[in-house]
Amino acid sequence: MKRTISIVPVGRIDSNVLHGLQQGLSVAFSVAPDIAEPLPEPFYAFNSRRNQYSAESILEVIASRLQGDTAEKILGIVDHDLYVPELNFVFGVALGRATLISIARLRQEFYGLSSDDDLFCRRVLTEAVHELGHSYGLKHCVNPNCVMFFSRTLLDTDKKGSDFCAPCNIKMHRFQSATSSPEGQKWMLPSSLSLSFVP
Ligand SMILES: [Zn+2]
Ligand SMILES: [Zn+2]
Repeated sequence: MKRTISIVPVGRIDSNVLHGLQQGLSVAFSVAPDIAEPLPEPFYAFNSRRNQYSAESILEVIASRLQGDTAEKILGIVDHDLYVPELNFVFGVALGRATLISIARLRQEFYGLSSDDDLFCRRVLTEAVHELGHSYGLKHCVNPNCVMFFSRTLLDTDKKGSDFCAPCNIKMHRFQSATSSPEGQKWMLPSSLSLSFVP
C-alpha cells in the first residue's frame, strides 16, 4: 500500500488515539498512513477572547512546516477547541492537502457525561475521514448515513459513522486514482458545527 496520509499530532495526543486512527484510515482509504513527529503545542493560535484556538493558524503552520513532506494528504490532530471566524467552533477543517481535526469536543466528558473510549475513537475516525474526504475532493452528502454528511451535532456524527455511501465511495476511488489534484483544493470547509452543543 502507498504511504499517502501523514498523521501529524499538534501537541500531545495519546498514542492509542493515533494508532487507532492509523488503523481506521488504512481501511477507509486503502493506504498505509504514517504517524509523523509531533509539532509543538500551538500556543501561537490561542485566542484569549474566545478561549479557543484558530484552526486557520494551525493549518498554515502544518502546511508550511510540511512542505517537503511527500505524503499526499496531511491530517493534523489537536486536543484543543478550534474555531474559524464565522463559527462558534469547528470539529475540523480542510485546506488543499492539509486537514486538521480537534478531538476536544469528541469526548463524552466534554458534555458532562461518563467517558466512553470506543465512542470517542469512532468519532475521531469519523471526523478524520470526513476532512480527508474533502481533501480528496468530496463535497457534503445528503445521505445521513454517509461520512460526508454535514454533522450539525455529535448525534449526527454518531449516526453517520465513518463509511462512505456507495456514490461517495465511487467518487473517492475516482479521485484517488486521478493523478492531478481535484478542483477546488483551495477552499476550506468546516466539517461540522454545532450550535446546540455549545455549553
Ligand atoms: Zn455520501
Ligand atoms: Zn465537511
